[in-house]
Amino acid sequence: MPELKKIILDPEDSGVPCVLPRAEHCISRNQIDEHALKVLYRLNRQGHMAYLVGGSVRDLLLGRTPKDFDVGTDATPNQVKTLFRNCFLVGRRFRLAHIRFRGNLLVEVATFRRNPDESELPENDDEHFHFVQNVFGDPREDAFRRDFTINALFYNIDDFSVIDHVGGLKDLEERTLRMIGDPLVRFEEDPVRMLRALEFSARLDFTIDDEIISAIDQRSHLLSSASSARLREEIMELFRHRVAGQVCEMAQLYGLLDQLFADIPFLPQTFELLKLIDQRTAEGKPIRESLALAGLVLPAFFERCPVERSQHINDALAVADKLLRPHCLTYSIAQGIRCEARDLLIGCFRLARGRGLKGESRFLRHPFTPQIFEFFALWCQIDHSLNDKFANWLGALASDAGEHTGERKSPRRRRRRPRRKAAMSS
Ligand code: ATP
Ligand code: MG
Repeated sequence: MPELKKIILDPEDSGVPCVLPRAEHCISRNQIDEHALKVLYRLNRQGHMAYLVGGSVRDLLLGRTPKDFDVGTDATPNQVKTLFRNCFLVGRRFRLAHIRFRGNLLVEVATFRRNPDESELPENDDEHFHFVQNVFGDPREDAFRRDFTINALFYNIDDFSVIDHVGGLKDLEERTLRMIGDPLVRFEEDPVRMLRALEFSARLDFTIDDEIISAIDQRSHLLSSASSARLREEIMELFRHRVAGQVCEMAQLYGLLDQLFADIPFLPQTFELLKLIDQRTAEGKPIRESLALAGLVLPAFFERCPVERSQHINDALAVADKLLRPHCLTYSIAQGIRCEARDLLIGCFRLARGRGLKGESRFLRHPFTPQIFEFFALWCQIDHSLNDKFANWLGALASDAGEHTGERKSPRRRRRRPRRKAAMSS
């Protein structure tokens, strides 16, 4: 992280934010997405507070490239809408303004929110989380409702300063992930934060504060009661950020793995395979949910479905279904994704059985087969006993491709002609 010039006091104690003027931090406007800048400037010119918030400020201060640039403002969603023709209000529960730009680009604008008092909460407990998300507040209140101190920093477009209400600058310097408020309470409010703690620690290579670790230990059982849709999204974030293997290992250490993947048996090779998938994503290859799913399940699949040439594909299909279905049901994962994951598993099973079995040439020509080969190649880095078979298959794939370029036509015709002649002569 670029060095901060100022000694940072803990502002959580004083109630006064730490404000770093432009000269004392490294964020420059030319690092900020031009569309986000446009939005910030227009809000500001119309007399509203306009801050860059959340992950983008954290990443810019760390010298990393932000994934997206979110804006926080004191303008209400409806006020934002009146300022931008290209604004769409989204989210029934968490009302947000999406400002859309050409090229499918989007800037998300959220009104500052606060944690409501106990007395304001709805009677029905189930509605708490969403209610809490939607009470408007001031910037300080908005900072305190966020999860970790490093995720609650603001960049103010009015004077280009960085504003820290929660001690996030100090924690960035110390590379520590610290919860805002009491982690026990914050995990009770939203158990997904436990998974996010592991994710950010892995992504940024930050130490997790002891209080968080102890609270995870005491509240791990709550994770399985969190919204499955949000957990599913966070699980995919692990894969997108190439930390799935590492976070799953941490989750096992902290007692969260069984809560997250109650239906998937994890073997030591599962962590290895996930790390190889992460490496593949780091090389810039897109990560689909079906591949993530197949990666989570493949080691258990091979353990339950020993590969013998005599083993029928239907047996393998049954094992794959038994492993995939309960998890997909828990997380409401669509049938199409489940079937694609199943095809990856069954494809690996075919490859592991070796060449020369029925349906080989159709399999080799199927448009999905290259994806299976790529996935199986990862598995071969773990199970070296399959390397010879895989090399053999690669040869078959190459010659099949060769046949498609025309080399195959003549021998085929040669075989057919005598048969037709025989038929005509009889
Ligand atoms: P990135 O987008 O790089 O993954 P991020 O920090 O922007 O990281 P998001 O998931 O996009 O993470 O969330 C944006 C911000 O919203 C976070 O920085 C954090 O301040 C706040 N936030 C997100 N999820 C929660 C949560 N469960 N509880 C409290 N605050 C949250
Ligand atoms: Mg973000």
